[in-house]
Amino acid sequence: MSIISQAIDKVKRIDPGQKEFHQAVTEVLETLEPTVKRHPEFVKAGIYERIIEPDRTLMFRVPWVDDKGSVQVNRGFRIQFNNAIGPYKGGLRFHPSVNLSIIKFLGFEQIFKNSLTTLPMGGAKGGSDFDPKGKSDGEVMRFCQAFMRELFRHIGPEVDVPAGDIGVGGREIGYMFGYYKKIRNEHTGVLTGKGLEYGGSLIRPEATGYGAVYFAAEMLATRVLDFKNKTVAVSGSGNVAQYAIEKVNQMGGKVITVCDSNATIIDEKGIGPEKCCYIMDLKNVKRGRISEYADKYKSSCFEGKNVWDVIREQGIKVDIALPCATQNEIDGANAQALVKNGCICVAEGANMPSSPEAVKIFQDNNVLFGPGKAANAGGVATSGLEMSQNSMKLSWTREEVDSRLLLIMKSIHKSCVDAATVYGKKDDYVTGANIAGFLKVAKAMLAYGIV
Ligand code: NAP
Repeated sequence: MSIISQAIDKVKRIDPGQKEFHQAVTEVLETLEPTVKRHPEFVKAGIYERIIEPDRTLMFRVPWVDDKGSVQVNRGFRIQFNNAIGPYKGGLRFHPSVNLSIIKFLGFEQIFKNSLTTLPMGGAKGGSDFDPKGKSDGEVMRFCQAFMRELFRHIGPEVDVPAGDIGVGGREIGYMFGYYKKIRNEHTGVLTGKGLEYGGSLIRPEATGYGAVYFAAEMLATRVLDFKNKTVAVSGSGNVAQYAIEKVNQMGGKVITVCDSNATIIDEKGIGPEKCCYIMDLKNVKRGRISEYADKYKSSCFEGKNVWDVIREQGIKVDIALPCATQNEIDGANAQALVKNGCICVAEGANMPSSPEAVKIFQDNNVLFGPGKAANAGGVATSGLEMSQNSMKLSWTREEVDSRLLLIMKSIHKSCVDAATVYGKKDDYVTGANIAGFLKVAKAMLAYGIV
């Protein structure tokens, strides 16, 4: 049995029930097989076994008081997975589906993603099963403060620098940073995604969505294609989706879909700049539901369905797919339908939105497929740029940050292509991203000895 199969088996045996974590470990380790022969020193040093075990797993109680005066209790998580190449870095997710398996899969993926950015950041992830939807600002504030009351002792600008993710945007980062500042009595870059007034970076809100579109554009360019006049499907309507739509519009594409966890909108006329601003106001300020879009603009609303189910059931043709909502949103049947209707490119704005069957279908059908750890790395890369600005106590212009983001996305694309080619898997961005991200971390781990 190969060292890779043994490592995968062990994870399944010692962490039964953690299906998202098993999925991520299997997907990464299987593509690392070609590195085993070339790097016997990694095998000897137990790198493959060590990299799948987090440095530490923190789980804690988060008690808070709701508007009615009742005590509520949620569970908090922070997985500090690997800090071989820099301080731990990775987002916080507040969503009722959050559990240990989901945070471990996200933290594991983050190791390779952060390595790909070329910046010195280790991998981590955290969050809670708290649902900000339907809560008042006061409730969200009290929850964030209670969450930080425990988290503060485990993080720091040189130790672990969390950011946002699903359910954690500017409002939540503000409450958490404010509370950290209060109890630590220090104003340091301990979180990224901060407001511009207190240490945030221009372009950080836009970075993940813009970056995913930049990455897709790089993939398209390898076939002398671009976004102009292409029909694009986007899922989600949160941070990543909003700025992916904005950038596709700038690049001349037409986005026809958007969703939230309750409904999907199909707007064949295209979600242009004005409609995109409406979505930003609806989701970020009014905190409304995407179904309200159909009251405002002529479009179709499908309650209780995700974008990919609707595309399959309605036989809608899209050229480019940008899944920007959540994990495993595209299953095999949905992938098959996308391919059948002529989809040429999929770039994952979300983390692991395509199931393993879906990835195989895209790759077998020569679809340009950019996995999340490469395609959505622009967010954490710009968080890295926010950390640099905080350390230097200065702020770069919008143009400067955006041009650095573009360069980073191009460099990630090149790293994926180069690694895939060197390891005999030309055009396979999944293998390329995993190997390129892995090698840097593995070499650093090797240098440290057995720690
Ligand atoms: P967000 O602002 O909270 O938006 C998430 C969006 O996805 C919302 O519209 C949400 O709908 C929708 N959604 C969530 N679960 C869903 C489901 N089961 N079915 C359909 N729609 C669903 O979060 P985000 O920051 O955009 O993150 C989206 C994805 O990108 C996640 O996978 C995240 O890990 C990944 N990502 C984010 C960043 C970043 O910088 N933010 C960086 C890298 C990767 P509701 O409005 O109903 O909740």
